[in-house]
Amino acid sequence: MRTPLLECEIDPPKDLLSSWIPLTSLEKMAETTYDVLIVGTGAGGSAVLRRLCEKWGGNEKRIGIIESGDLLLPTHARNLPTMNDERFTKYFLGVSEWIGKTLPDFYGARQLFALGGRTLFWGMAALRMDISEIVKWPVSEKEMNYYYSIAEQVMNVTTGYTKGSSIQEILLKRLRENNFPEAADVATPSDLESTKYGEIHSDVFWSSLSMFAYALNHKPFDLAVNARAVEVFVENGKAAGVKVMNPNKKAYFLKAKTIVLAGSTIETPRLLLNSNIPGRAIGHYLTNHSFLLSTGKVSRQEFTETLGTLSLFIPQTKKRPYQIQMGGPGGEGQWYHWYQPYEEKQLLDELLIGISVFGKVESRFENYLTLDPYERDEYGVPKINVNFSYSEKDKAIIQQMTAALEQASLAMKTPLIPKGDQPAICLMPPGTDYHEACTCRMGNDPETSAVNRFGQIHGVPGLYVADNSMLPSIGATNPTLTTVALSIRTADYIINTLK
Ligand SMILES: Cc1cc2nc3c(=O)[nH]c(=O)nc-3n(C[C@H](O)[C@H](O)[C@H](O)COP(=O)(O)OP(=O)(O)OC[C@H]3O[C@@H](n4cnc5c(N)ncnc54)[C@H](O)[C@@H]3O)c2cc1C
Repeated sequence: MRTPLLECEIDPPKDLLSSWIPLTSLEKMAETTYDVLIVGTGAGGSAVLRRLCEKWGGNEKRIGIIESGDLLLPTHARNLPTMNDERFTKYFLGVSEWIGKTLPDFYGARQLFALGGRTLFWGMAALRMDISEIVKWPVSEKEMNYYYSIAEQVMNVTTGYTKGSSIQEILLKRLRENNFPEAADVATPSDLESTKYGEIHSDVFWSSLSMFAYALNHKPFDLAVNARAVEVFVENGKAAGVKVMNPNKKAYFLKAKTIVLAGSTIETPRLLLNSNIPGRAIGHYLTNHSFLLSTGKVSRQEFTETLGTLSLFIPQTKKRPYQIQMGGPGGEGQWYHWYQPYEEKQLLDELLIGISVFGKVESRFENYLTLDPYERDEYGVPKINVNFSYSEKDKAIIQQMTAALEQASLAMKTPLIPKGDQPAICLMPPGTDYHEACTCRMGNDPETSAVNRFGQIHGVPGLYVADNSMLPSIGATNPTLTTVALSIRTADYIINTLK
């Protein structure tokens, strides 16, 4: 006779998780001296984190990263099968902060305070800057190409998303044959490989969270959310730490040998100015794109039965200081990555496509952010004011953009249509492009730039910037791929410095 089986005890681990990503409390983080502390988890911050974790692997270096917002989504919102265009837009507008509401000069601006920053909702046009911009930068074309290749690889950038789409092929052909020979497919960070069990690529569309997933599998790091950096400290001329507050306004001091600020074009200079970090260019040279938005009409009859999806662009060139992007079908603001084919709806004879034109804006000292002398936010940090206007040169480019938009619409045979009582072509308020940049711009001269060619604040060893604010210029191109490329480069520099 067999002896009766003994019942095994259930012994769950003590450190259970209540979140989908490991978090560390600020109390615990305050006990550590970090080799690198990153402030902000958007495009720039997550790129630095990924690179450090990949390169440092199992070594003893300590990495911390803090995010002022909470956990919101574990992926890009377009990966959620419950989303469609309407819900996506309303959700983004609902969870982001319309900072432009109180900034007449920069009325369209929005921030997203959440893990992943604005990469949770970005439109994913991942394009390289035109060479006419790069030649003015303190980084060589060769080096930029090297870091662009790395950025494209880590973000899964491809032009294959619209492959085989008849609307894409036909409109591209029409553009190329009618004065726009450079028209091309938009490069998009979308992982189109089939998912194999055991591989980390369940997200089609890239967000910072893909960087966190990779980093987690290479090296442990401490992440705190609801952790707002309010002041940066420098001791003996070097970066020393960051004062951070939780939503209850309890303050912690996080010690770090190296600090990387990645809070965005608005928040990074705000933090630096609030910390009295010297630098004539900090907060200045605010640059965005002038932005025209329009809707074109196409006849469904002109395409094959299987329509496909549209995402193409006419790039900036030396002679063309603007970029035109087309997406759809679905009209203005409705782009190509939706579950719309599955929605039950009437088959239409006429379709709409969205057309955006981004214009180059001069980087001028006179366009700048300042701390409000009177008003503070709930953390006691002065609110931001923005002084921004278009120069005569910017206005002349806006005129050219309008003419080019009409020309492109003729070439594509997609007449522009007014939306309600709005004109067929709208000039969007400054900030609505969400491409603002350059407020801590990179350069060799501390008089005209905030950070040096490696992203370090001039004269303050250990204090770096890695977000859109450090871009030397943005021409007429979407900025994020370049921010990721330069942030990875800054991480490599930090790795060399801390050897
Ligand atoms: C709807 C939409 C569409 C877009 N489409 C495109 C596109 O197609 N192509 C393109 O190139 N770009 C696009 N963008 C812009 C793109 O999202 C930004 O270029 C990119 O996210 C900027 O990265 P960042 O690191 O500078 O800042 P963010 O992504 O904004 O991240 C900054 C992070 O820092 C955190 N933070 C701020 N201050 C503090 C603080 N004091 N303490 C702690 N944390 C802090 C914020 O909460 C946030 O998480 C789009 C943006 C939006 C909103």
